[in-house]
Amino acid sequence: MKKVLVAGEINVDLILQGYRTFPSPGTEVLVDDAALTLGSASVICAAGLARLGHPVAFVGRVGRDVFGDYCVRAMADLGIDVSPLIRGESLKTGITASITAPRDRALVTFLGSIASLRAEDVPDPLLAQYQHLHVSSYFLQEGLRPGCPDLFARARRLGLSTSLDPGCDPSERWGDDIRATLAGVDIFFPNEVELAALAGESDPLPALRRLANGHTRIVAKLGAEGCLTLDGDAPLRAPSFPVTPVDTTGAGDSFNAGFLHAYLGGATLAECLDWGAACGALSTRGLGGTAAQATAGEVAALLRSRP
Ligand code: ADP
Repeated sequence: MKKVLVAGEINVDLILQGYRTFPSPGTEVLVDDAALTLGSASVICAAGLARLGHPVAFVGRVGRDVFGDYCVRAMADLGIDVSPLIRGESLKTGITASITAPRDRALVTFLGSIASLRAEDVPDPLLAQYQHLHVSSYFLQEGLRPGCPDLFARARRLGLSTSLDPGCDPSERWGDDIRATLAGVDIFFPNEVELAALAGESDPLPALRRLANGHTRIVAKLGAEGCLTLDGDAPLRAPSFPVTPVDTTGAGDSFNAGFLHAYLGGATLAECLDWGAACGALSTRGLGGTAAQATAGEVAALLRSRP
């Protein structure tokens, strides 16, 4: 199987699940459940790949603190190769508090180590050990972002395929540097909100056409509406799988894992979309991004059961 290197951010997620009313300043609200879990879009995608049995390693910076120790141990336990990780004495590991209910969620993030990885931390001799490079959280990874065009260009020169998930931009500035970055990206995975913001167009199909650069496959993740891409200029949709979600944290990252696992195994475009949608749907069965990610057997069973 083609080996994947994820270059990404690492943080813990504090999940506060099942609010009845959303907290507003000066108030306290109760939630139904709470859990501290392994967070970060990049780690959830890597964990999704590992769960599918796909070889995956992670390069990122993480603090030498309680949260950092927890993250490194949990990543290794999930089957991610953590040998490229960089521990920093002066770094504080990032944290995201996710205030969530089945209908939606809000995230509060302390960046800490999240913003500290740089393209120079991913040198050619490391890249050369893998066949695919994935980057998530483009806008949160403030240290990596300016070096992304060069990182993707080096990866492709070394024969790797590449993928990018933009994640949201908490500043909502977005910026148009992503267009230059996409020149080195084979697969781009925005969700509906990110696609609309980046394209300046809220309708997904014209938004896909507006961002098209003739090279990058753009896969728009549309939540319960499934996903959409362009096959040439024709829209290709895959519906979602019906689930009653417990927690949608990281569904998009699990989608990426499913899509990439199929793509790197030589599957057709339609199969890649189905694997993404199945992994996204199945990941919502449990609290947090990694607790309920799908095995390859579970995906295959779900695909077979579809009428
Ligand atoms: P993100 O988590 O990045 O915001 P989405 O919410 O679009 O991305 O979710 C990613 C994918 O996970 C969707 O394309 C869909 O396949 C699956 N998914 C997400 N939410 C649901 C849901 N409520 N029911 C079924 N599938 C879902």
